[in-house]
Amino acid sequence: MHSIPIDKTPSFSKLSLDEQLLSAVNKMGFEQPTPVQLQAIPLALDHKDLLVSAETGSGKTAAFLLPTLQHLLSLPSGKSGTRALVLTPTRELAQQIFKHCQQLTEFTGLKTGLITGGDDFRLQQNMLRRNTDIVIATPGRVLELMDQEIPDFSNLEVLILDEADRMLDMGFSEDVLSIANSCNTRRQTLLFSATLTHFGVIKMADKVLTNHKVVALNTLYDGHRNIEQQIVLADDNDHKLKLLTWLLQHETYNKALVFTNSRIQADTLRGPLRGQKLRVGVLHGEMDQKDRNRMMELFRDGEVKIILATDLAARGLDIKGINLVINFDVPRNGINYIHRIGRTGRVDELGLTIALVKHTEWNLMSGIERFLKQKFKQRRIKELEGKYKGPKKLKASGKATGGKSKIEPKKAAAEKVKIRHRDKKNVGKRRIPTVKSDVAVN
Ligand code: AMP
Repeated sequence: MHSIPIDKTPSFSKLSLDEQLLSAVNKMGFEQPTPVQLQAIPLALDHKDLLVSAETGSGKTAAFLLPTLQHLLSLPSGKSGTRALVLTPTRELAQQIFKHCQQLTEFTGLKTGLITGGDDFRLQQNMLRRNTDIVIATPGRVLELMDQEIPDFSNLEVLILDEADRMLDMGFSEDVLSIANSCNTRRQTLLFSATLTHFGVIKMADKVLTNHKVVALNTLYDGHRNIEQQIVLADDNDHKLKLLTWLLQHETYNKALVFTNSRIQADTLRGPLRGQKLRVGVLHGEMDQKDRNRMMELFRDGEVKIILATDLAARGLDIKGINLVINFDVPRNGINYIHRIGRTGRVDELGLTIALVKHTEWNLMSGIERFLKQKFKQRRIKELEGKYKGPKKLKASGKATGGKSKIEPKKAAAEKVKIRHRDKKNVGKRRIPTVKSDVAVN
């Protein structure tokens, strides 16, 4: 995960788009690309699968339409069938995107079609038979047409899931997956959602995206309504093992997932936990499929209540009743953290997630907090209190420990005076708000 420097004078002409598209953009009065356009378009032009957090109003429609249209223009297809499909939750949205697409294709000769419930079925069938290049649709009607074996997505080049979180909230999860499964497997997939911390979106991303990049604008975190997030400080891995054992013995949970950053770490923890009479299974990428399936079955049936897993092994894990997630190792980036905690706290369930953080992981954990725009609750386990209390600076201000400030009185007074001088100097001056455009790509 790293930030991408934003060009100070962004312009559409720098985005490697054909003249026909630039003329349309110009005619629509777009002078500069919006942040999501600036980030997503180059990656999409590079044929990457993308998971993008962007809200309505951010310019997301052009962020997925422009690279898709560019692709259709640069690689004319000799094959039959629809070349690009946009799925969106409501008829109104589909109409809006259709209009947007017609404006953007005005100088191109590309054909755009609209498929929504309530409109004439026959006309839609005919439109699909005429090999419309790009189709904007709601999932329900596409499925109805698929029952008649009309749409041909076997040569589809780009699949776009717009407002995926809303589609899933509206109950379209199965429909969207059926449609995605009927599409060319070598297609590019762009998944847009207002939030990336939605349980369904994470699962959907696991299923439909391949080696995807993430473009996260500042709408990333939705507060993850059902999940309480805690951190517990630890001295080292031995201390972490004691804390982990204690938590697994004292917390109330149905099923627990413990994440490690490596297969070896997962294997190492199994023995000592079993020694404490905890029924623990391991799930990692190097196990053969038969063993993995067997382990999932045991976990699903509740015979094994605790699974030690690596990130890779947990992708796509869809098991009900996981209400405790422990990060034995702090994940390497914010997106992995979201994937991990997304396994708990489904819409109708409550979840608790605890990260065990040693001093070498503090910065990583703070980075994740910044990424999510969240401060996690620090919890102490009295029985197993360690020596590590957080970084010195925070200790001094009492933030990490909740204790009293340890700044020496003289120094603290000098600090105060400095602040007052600065405030006086700035009296009457207008504060310029800083524009935040957090963009993270991994
Ligand atoms: P969207 O988030 O795609 O629904 O777009 C919101 C509104 O912003 C629409 O009215 C677009 O036409 C407009 N829009 C999209 N991109 C730009 C841009 N680069 N400059 C100005 N307006 C834009």
